[in-house]
Amino acid sequence: MLNIIIFGAPGCGKGTQSELLIEAFNLRHISAGQLLREEIAANTEVGREAEKYVSKGHLVPDNMINGIIENIVCGWKNGFSGIIFDGYPRTLGQAEELEKIMDKLNKSTSLLIDLRVPEEELIKRLLSRAKTSGRSDDNIDIIRNRFKIYESETRPVMDFYKSLGKYHAVEGLSSVEGVFANIKEKIESLKR
Ligand code: ADP
Repeated sequence: MLNIIIFGAPGCGKGTQSELLIEAFNLRHISAGQLLREEIAANTEVGREAEKYVSKGHLVPDNMINGIIENIVCGWKNGFSGIIFDGYPRTLGQAEELEKIMDKLNKSTSLLIDLRVPEEELIKRLLSRAKTSGRSDDNIDIIRNRFKIYESETRPVMDFYKSLGKYHAVEGLSSVEGVFANIKEKIESLKR
């Protein structure tokens, strides 16, 4: 099993690279942000609660997202070669919980790929995405908030996976294909 965490600041290209990885390695995709937006759009109880956080650029409480992720992963049986976690885990508490979920399922995380892109470029990308995304959290004040939270809450996840020897940084500023080639090379070296 190839269980990858795709990691990095908002706008770094996690979603784009996830799509390519799914195709190339027959993976199932979990996008935490997408799942939350679906709950919000369906106006479920969880969605109504989540909206209060997402619209401000805050993280939803760990127990809310952990529950959603666990339900989905536990429901998957056969026919795939691994999972790509996109936007999860985003706090140390989530990372610890993910490791527990994987243990329970007799699986393990293989590696965390940190897509590194300078902040000015990220802001440019997010503002340009804002024109078409229709996302309530793609505006400059909320974007700045999301960066702040990334630095304070999400970065520790990186150190956690470093300590497990599963951390790998990839430069995320080159072309989509260039970034993907680097990620693929890393995964292939892992399989050898
Ligand atoms: P981006 O990576 O561009 O910030 P996402 O779609 O991954 O976008 O996330 C959008 C929003 O959804 C986050 O700002 C946050 O409010 C919420 N969210 C996503 N993933 C998580 C998570 N793992 N834990 C808590 N909140 C989350």
